[in-house]
Amino acid sequence: MAILVAGGAGYIGSHVCKLLHKRGFSVVVYDSLIHGYRSFAKWGEFVQGDIGDAECLSLVFTRFKIDVVMHFCAFIEVGESVAEPEKYYKNNVQNTITLLEQMRKHGVNKFIFSSTAAVYGMPERMPIAEEDRKAPINPYGKSKLMVEQILEDYAQAYDFRSIRFRYFNAAGADPDAEIGEAHVPETHLIPLILDAALGRRESIKVFGTDYDTKDGTCVRDYIHVNDLADAHIRGAEYLLDGGQTSYFNLGSGSDFTVREMLETVRRVTGRDFKVVEIERRPGDPPYLIASSDKAQKILDWKPGFSLEDIVRTAWVWQKCLADKTLT
Ligand code: UDP
Repeated sequence: MAILVAGGAGYIGSHVCKLLHKRGFSVVVYDSLIHGYRSFAKWGEFVQGDIGDAECLSLVFTRFKIDVVMHFCAFIEVGESVAEPEKYYKNNVQNTITLLEQMRKHGVNKFIFSSTAAVYGMPERMPIAEEDRKAPINPYGKSKLMVEQILEDYAQAYDFRSIRFRYFNAAGADPDAEIGEAHVPETHLIPLILDAALGRRESIKVFGTDYDTKDGTCVRDYIHVNDLADAHIRGAEYLLDGGQTSYFNLGSGSDFTVREMLETVRRVTGRDFKVVEIERRPGDPPYLIASSDKAQKILDWKPGFSLEDIVRTAWVWQKCLADKTLT
């Protein structure tokens, strides 16, 4: 079976490619390299292209017989999406439609889409279940929800089946440290703390200490990137076995505060670093915790990595990163 991985040179996409390859799938990576790294596309064929480029996509679908498309290409910075919404709607929505059009033109009808907990906005209850209210509060979350709705309409109108995975806080790295998280600019908590532990950053800022949570800082559900990768493979198998269009939360159900994360990093790395407590970051909900019961029940998926594993694998990766320039 051949899988086209759009965005396969990025953080989550590359981990999925590695696992797909290990499990015997043929992999074709399609990536513009705007945010991805050529060195992350180590498994299968590589084609450099943009998902908005219909001609290039058409050539790929002609050259390779693709069974399932996984789509990881997206702009993901919430703040940027507020400042430049057009960029988000164009890349995350319009270009996704181009990809879907090319799939249909070439008779490919199985699709796995990277969605996000941001579709829930400010959730009303925890843990969040898939049917809970969707009310994204920024263009990034809205762009993802729009594609989710488009995929429902495709399922009604065409012979087209898809899965949407709503990721909670993706974190950690390949235990072999071949690939890992390397966003530019980096905005995510764990790599930023590790940077501070390595002395590459003067301090780590804590955004808000007056939330109504156990220690005043935000609570998040961190899920290892290889657990996400495993869910994608189960998702592909589900669609290949005839499974209908569906959607799943992917989280570990754990609830760690920012302060607990700082403590875990201190313990795992054996290093201390400067912490600066500042005001809240606009748009951060106090809690984001997934119920992943549906994925467990239907895909028989269960996260296997603990928070310690997440921090340990990310730490080894960050130390490797310090010695090299990614290309
Ligand atoms: N956070 C923080 N300092 C930082 C980056 C993040 O205190 O420099 C907090 C942020 O407010 C949130 C949590 O860490 O509560 C996780 O943030 P991240 O940006 O990693 O993921 P998000 O939850 O926004 O998807």
